[in-house]
Amino acid sequence: MFDVEFLDIPPLVSAGGQVRLPGSKSISNRVLLLAALSHGKTTVKEVLASDDTAVMLNALEQLGCSVEKDGSTVTIGGLGGQLVHKKASLFLGNAGTAMRPLTAALALLGGEFELSGVARMHERPIGDLVEALRQLGCGIDYLGNPGFPPLRLYPGGLKLDTPIQVRGDVSSQFLTALLMALPLVAKQDISIEVVGELISRPYIEITLNLLARFGIQVKRPLGSDNWQSFTIPAGSRYQSPGEIHVEGDASSASYFIALGAIAAATKTTNGIEILGVGTDSIQGDIRFVEAARLMGAQIESTPNSLRISRGKPGQGWPLKAIDLDCNHIPDAAMTLAIMALYADGTSVLRNIASWRVKETDRIAAMACELRKLGATVEEGADFLKITPPAVVGGVSQWASAAIETYDDHRVAMCFSLAAFNPAQLPIRILDPKCVAKTFPDYFEALFSVSRAETHQIPVICIDGPTASGKGTLAAQVAQRLGYHFLDSGALYRLSAFAASRAGISLDDGPGIARIAASMPVRFVSHQIYLGAEDVSEQIRTEAAGMAASRVSAHAEVRSALLALQHSFRKLPGLVADGRDMGSVIFPDAPLKIFLVASARCRAERRHKQLISKGNSTTLQDIQLDLEARDARDMSRQTAPLKPADDALLLDNSDLSIEKSTLQVIDWWQGRRPF
Ligand code: C5P
Repeated sequence: MFDVEFLDIPPLVSAGGQVRLPGSKSISNRVLLLAALSHGKTTVKEVLASDDTAVMLNALEQLGCSVEKDGSTVTIGGLGGQLVHKKASLFLGNAGTAMRPLTAALALLGGEFELSGVARMHERPIGDLVEALRQLGCGIDYLGNPGFPPLRLYPGGLKLDTPIQVRGDVSSQFLTALLMALPLVAKQDISIEVVGELISRPYIEITLNLLARFGIQVKRPLGSDNWQSFTIPAGSRYQSPGEIHVEGDASSASYFIALGAIAAATKTTNGIEILGVGTDSIQGDIRFVEAARLMGAQIESTPNSLRISRGKPGQGWPLKAIDLDCNHIPDAAMTLAIMALYADGTSVLRNIASWRVKETDRIAAMACELRKLGATVEEGADFLKITPPAVVGGVSQWASAAIETYDDHRVAMCFSLAAFNPAQLPIRILDPKCVAKTFPDYFEALFSVSRAETHQIPVICIDGPTASGKGTLAAQVAQRLGYHFLDSGALYRLSAFAASRAGISLDDGPGIARIAASMPVRFVSHQIYLGAEDVSEQIRTEAAGMAASRVSAHAEVRSALLALQHSFRKLPGLVADGRDMGSVIFPDAPLKIFLVASARCRAERRHKQLISKGNSTTLQDIQLDLEARDARDMSRQTAPLKPADDALLLDNSDLSIEKSTLQVIDWWQGRRPF
């Protein structure tokens, strides 16, 4: 996951390859709760690991369920319709799929409970569900604003003989919550009547489908189009299916369907293949496929996968503008708003009023952020009208923008696709970690199938003499920006180490180069592996540094390591530290730093480090060593240590690591268009 303040996505040009989707959020949270309410154990496979499922699992544990996790498999020991703990205070984050159904289930089971969430959750309506539950005799108080969480639940006398009325036109989750809770008390037939037109009907279909898997056959009046009345038959009782599999998230699929529709194919792949959902899906958002086809996407499907490619010029590319009622795909339709940026005219997304009560007011949020990119947007109570950025005198009017994400995972995910803009501008996504709500590794998945022109992938070079602190600084900067990190010194250290092991003299340039070119190096977090062996400690000694300095003077070794170093330049960017990152390896890097510190200061830092590792050495010896190494690095023929002409000098003798990091980030921000 990108745990950074902002993520800059370079302009992307093409895409191809496979994406395996994480499990569906809607199915995961429903199944976890149904398993908890059932008799017996349920093994749930491919459960989505995300914020929303984490709060549900925590709540279930607090209520007395057993929860065993093994990778993406979760085994739940059900309560069998009886609460073990009748008192609890549950924090449900911003998960509507936890708040609404748990409110209903706990209100009916009886007990003393408090249900709360993040500030936004306390702005998301729940009054209609509370009203419906009060009709049944449940005790529910608002602890904050009437109509919104947090809530206090307490036992009341249940009255189940008259049909329960619930509004269907604010959130379908109210009906879902009742449908999942009422089987717990179905000593007699219980009827629910929906008041107002039912929105987001596909989500109710998921609920009915999953209820059936857990032994509950909800009855609807004959005639497939009656979605206003539901009956839970007397004697309904939850029964675990034993094992159940969560399909991939169809809403998450929308980003990759859109990606396939707007990105040119790469030379070596045949579009985007999505594994985990297909024509067999029970999720309503799978119908996003139809909307994407209307816009021009070429999509082939199997029961459990999709393959998408961009239409040919004039036949699907540019995309075709649409005017569409999106009520049946409320979540995935946000992705259509981004596709509209690549369309040949003005698109209208209609019947999307429910967007206003989701993670954020999504109509307002989308309108505001789309305008930042240069689109013309008209926003109505329940529609969005989007005209792509104009082309004036052959020049696209797209603008680079820092996209606000409003703690809304879908805003973050869909706007990442703006990086395919024809103006080749980078896009900044603020607070990208909000994708953890449903797709923690979204950006990793995006980068694994997307390509940028190499020169568009930023590299920040941090060069400098031995022990100037560039390794620590570079690693920090990389972490702040979510960029890859190259410790080029480690490659010279490894070359010397591998050569010594193979019995090759450190004076034999061509011999070492042969080894260096094919070393099986892997960087895993802070550890460095040669094949299967973790050699981090062995190559970080002073002796290994000296040996590295010797082998690095051979021109053959330097050129043997060139391709390996270039291979680190990957999306979304790279921070590279060494001696010649800015001067030789990445001469086109948009920011180059030459880091210095006085010899005394560097010797003191290194001395401290060595002492803390238990090595005995004197300050004097270290300083002599450093100076010898600097002298050799500066006087060698190939790529001698010197600042690149366009490097910025940073003397960190008196700066903390934090201050140096902030300085580099500050310089970097100064060169960004945001
Ligand atoms: O930075 P570090 O101390 O790990 O580097 C070990 C040695 O590798 C340096 O003294 C230098 O001689 C060599 N080196 C280099 N070019 C780089 C990085 C390191 O010549 N880009």
